[in-house]
Amino acid sequence: MRIVFVGPPGAGKGTQAAKLIADYRLVHLSTGDMLRAARDAKTEIGLKAEGYMAAGQLVPDEVIVEVIGQRLREDDCRQGYLLDGFPRTIAQAEALDALLAQAGTPLDLVLEIRVAEDELFRRLAGRGRADDSEEVIRQRLVAYRNQTEPLLAYYSRSGLLKTVDGLGTVEEIYQRIQKVLGEVQ
Ligand code: ADP
Repeated sequence: MRIVFVGPPGAGKGTQAAKLIADYRLVHLSTGDMLRAARDAKTEIGLKAEGYMAAGQLVPDEVIVEVIGQRLREDDCRQGYLLDGFPRTIAQAEALDALLAQAGTPLDLVLEIRVAEDELFRRLAGRGRADDSEEVIRQRLVAYRNQTEPLLAYYSRSGLLKTVDGLGTVEEIYQRIQKVLGEVQ
């Protein structure tokens, strides 16, 4: 299965992604992880992305589309994958659609984890990652609301979108996700 995982920072995507990839044998494609690795290795992409990431802003579409385009061409992606953190803008979604249409491998599902913004802020403020200062958190939530939320309507129109409630225990949320996957498979 080819799945796109959508949800604001702090929604619990990382936790649920780890469970999903293990149980469904999916390759985990986290653009956040890829960019952090590129940044730490000081590659050309990493150097381009660094400043945006530190400010809680999205890196330019063409940078991330290049990264993910290359990654999707690798052999392991044929077994199915979970795209985590991409696409994050309409332009990225359109680029992905074009790429997948060309390859004849359309998406099966876009899975949204939904959590209210005040709850997200509480969770993120308690998490303490290096880029989790209050201003950067606020900026990431704003980026989500303005740039990523429009994707929900985009994927809803193509009939791919399913939403699960992200409030509850890890297990409860995972069960909701499994139920959705059961309906798609
Ligand atoms: P979050 O913890 O906010 O969910 P991620 O770990 O997915 O964020 O990504 C960390 C940072 O990497 C983002 O704040 C952004 O700067 C950059 N990034 C990740 N994915 C993308 C993308 N698809 N488009 C643009 N920027 C991205």
